Amino acid sequence: MDINNTSRKEFLASLLTGGLVMAGCSTKQSPFEAGAEEGTKPSGEKVKLLSVDGDVIEVDKAFLKPVPQLPAVTNSEARKGIPGKKFVMVIDLSRCKNLRKCQAACNHMHHVHSDLNWLKVYPMNEGEHTAPYWQPTTCMHCDEPPCVKVCPVDATFKRQDGIVLIDSDRCIGCRFCMAACPYSIRVFNWEKPDTVSEALCGQPYDPETSLPQKKGTVGKCDFCPDMARKGELPHCVTACPNGTFFYGDLNEDSVTNGAETFRFSDLIKDKAGYQLMDDLGTKPSVYYLPPAARNFPFEKGLEIDKG
Ligand code: SF4
Repeated sequence: MDINNTSRKEFLASLLTGGLVMAGCSTKQSPFEAGAEEGTKPSGEKVKLLSVDGDVIEVDKAFLKPVPQLPAVTNSEARKGIPGKKFVMVIDLSRCKNLRKCQAACNHMHHVHSDLNWLKVYPMNEGEHTAPYWQPTTCMHCDEPPCVKVCPVDATFKRQDGIVLIDSDRCIGCRFCMAACPYSIRVFNWEKPDTVSEALCGQPYDPETSLPQKKGTVGKCDFCPDMARKGELPHCVTACPNGTFFYGDLNEDSVTNGAETFRFSDLIKDKAGYQLMDDLGTKPSVYYLPPAARNFPFEKGLEIDKG
């Protein structure tokens, strides 16, 4: 992106999700976000950043400011969760075109190893005479999570706000949780994290960002609780150009994809929302809207999932 040929307004809009990370840094660095004062002039000094899609872009330094550091969340606060909240996600299958912007943003922001994906997009076809569709699949953040029940060291836990997290400092890599998860969403970090994670070298592990990730431990979708604490949406939600993902609070009966907001109970009722394999009694916090009235073709253009 050439900032000289782009108005500042357009530029800020293009950095929709904020949270850019300096490319190639090897020591502790603050992430940057767009947000310079009105009237700021370009400095002429270009900085290379990684976008949420994993692309390296050049930006004028004057248009950036460091992301303000929130007070650190203690391990005990991270295990309790955000008081008064009960997070929920709705995925509208009629909107998914397999663009995988959600997956790229998730991988990038969580520094997921390039051989793995936390968010998987499966091709689905329920019968010979039914149309195929794409199904993005995250951790279901089950209210009765089998993964939590089998962990021998209390490394994975369910919070009061509904989010299921992993404390990598406690994880011993036994992978019982991977075997117990009926949705197969957990992954194992066989390798060291990718290079971008080097920016976090030496920082203590934070269960709310799941960073820095460690070789020999289990990882998975964490519903981005660090973003929720800032009042922002998970990375997959903001990265999807089709508004496929809705996120919100069950206690407020409200979900949004950033552009549209719905009453959660109405959306589920009106569009026949359902949970995956709800007969197992896992009580997922993720709901799906059926792939009805799709107005675009199903195309197989991308590689099928890794890990
Ligand atoms: Fe645990 Fe799997 Fe449910 Fe996530 S989807 S809470 S990993 S059982």
